[in-house]
Amino acid sequence: MSSFLKILLKNVLGGPSTDPFPFGPTFEPKRLRGRVVVDPDKCMGCGMCRNSCVAGAIDITKDAESKGWTITVWQDSCCLCASCRTYCPMKAIEIVPDWHSAHFEEDKYSRIEQHTIEYQPCAVCGKPVRVLSLAKAQELYRNDPDVDPELVRHMCRSCRQIKDAEAHVEILEAIPRKAPKQDAAAPEAEAKA
Ligand code: SF4
Ligand code: SF4
Repeated sequence: MSSFLKILLKNVLGGPSTDPFPFGPTFEPKRLRGRVVVDPDKCMGCGMCRNSCVAGAIDITKDAESKGWTITVWQDSCCLCASCRTYCPMKAIEIVPDWHSAHFEEDKYSRIEQHTIEYQPCAVCGKPVRVLSLAKAQELYRNDPDVDPELVRHMCRSCRQIKDAEAHVEILEAIPRKAPKQDAAAPEAEAKA
């Protein structure tokens, strides 16, 4: 059999070696930047992502009655630079490898990632507060087994500070305090007067 026929037979029996897309599934590069996704459980509404977005693709609007805020990412404006992901202090932004972004022109304004996040009453004083994610509370208090992360994440900052101070009052009292500095210029000024 000629070498040509051998190759032909091998290719016919082996089937196509190219990717079947668009008639079948295709591969997805691991670190492909396809689409920005926000985790509403982690977002604290700080605005860092909006401030760092070179494309102006992120909007954060406070609720008119101060009950919370809405974060919106305009996917058609996003250039997938990942700046928002880099600067988000809560690690609330991810860029997933979903590359299925083909759409009709009239759908361009509906391609958004949007979440409305509401404040909840502080578990102690009732003041409206953004509840921390459980993972963040566990991370913050990982060295303090006496603190219940589930409770503390529902408390406002002031109540958390008071609770922390109460829990560590013995440590605070044991810290030696420096005597207040004497103002050397004061007596002289008084003498001149
Ligand atoms: S996504 Fe991150 S950076 Fe943006 S507002 Fe929420 S916490 Fe802040
Ligand atoms: S990836 Fe870049 S362009 Fe897209 S929303 Fe984030 S900061 Fe803006």
